[in-house]
Amino acid sequence: MVIPSPLERLPEKLGKPFDVELWIKRDDLIHPVISGNKYRKLKYNLLEVNKNNFNHVLTFGGAHSNHIASTAYLCKQFDLKCTGIIRGEEAKQISPTLKASLEAGMDCQYVSRSEYRNKNTPTYLEALQTKYPSAYIIPEGGANELGIKGCEEIVTECKDLTDFDFITVDCGTGATLAGMVRQLQPHQKAIGVQVLKGQDFISNEVEDFSPNYSDKFEIWTAYHFGGYAKFQPELIQFMRWFYDQTSIKLDPIYTGKQFYAVFDQLKNGFFPKGSRIILTHTGGLQGIEGFEERYGLEIYPNEHRRYKK
Ligand SMILES: *Cc1c(COP(=O)(O)O)cnc(C)c1O
Repeated sequence: MVIPSPLERLPEKLGKPFDVELWIKRDDLIHPVISGNKYRKLKYNLLEVNKNNFNHVLTFGGAHSNHIASTAYLCKQFDLKCTGIIRGEEAKQISPTLKASLEAGMDCQYVSRSEYRNKNTPTYLEALQTKYPSAYIIPEGGANELGIKGCEEIVTECKDLTDFDFITVDCGTGATLAGMVRQLQPHQKAIGVQVLKGQDFISNEVEDFSPNYSDKFEIWTAYHFGGYAKFQPELIQFMRWFYDQTSIKLDPIYTGKQFYAVFDQLKNGFFPKGSRIILTHTGGLQGIEGFEERYGLEIYPNEHRRYKK
């Protein structure tokens, strides 16, 4: 486990044409499976589990979910029973994420999409708690207050560059961003890149999680590339280019979109000259294999994937 995660300067030549400094917060290096913001969101939740002597964790996610993979793996580490409520009936071919989670000992309960939609409603949660009385329930993606608290540390760990101007992150629920905004200095701003399509209310959600920080962040909505886990050659091409420049892999669902957006906005002149910008690598590399299977391609040909043993 690599904590604090490294804060590295990206090659100077990448920022030079735009007169900016580019840095990267390497949460992808925290752990090959429990990577990025999923580690951040599970940290205080698992401390809570430990404090209250729970022996069972229950959570929610889709068949390719980084949160499911991380939770399964961490529960194995801490010898906790683990149940995953998985969206959609069991697929004919099980995803690499679920395969790894089952191997880690997760009990996967497949529920219909309509049942899954109840995942945050009190009556559904009560029914689950009755069925699994000893379980500590963590919401999808780890998006509760303890999860958000863990995400504050993405910013507080940037001690070597306290005078940065912008920090960017990709957003699903916006919980990670909601944690980060709480720790910004007055002159600093966070930018969230929305990866889901048609998610027009995400800034409200960030404000629900962290009220009174609306002037500390903005959301870029134009970089979802057609929606969650859609295939777009332009995005893959960008990720390969970035890998050639830096030897750093991105994933096509979250981080690829954020990094693409930042480079696009550099070209558009969004960032004032002299800006110091930190890009947050939120991890998610475990999802590459499932994406490659679905679309029959290799994102990084001839490479041994880092998350493989
Ligand atoms: C889950 C995930 C996100 C989304 O985080 P939110 O807190 O839901 O916005 C971003 N990046 C990666 C790699 C993820 O796994």
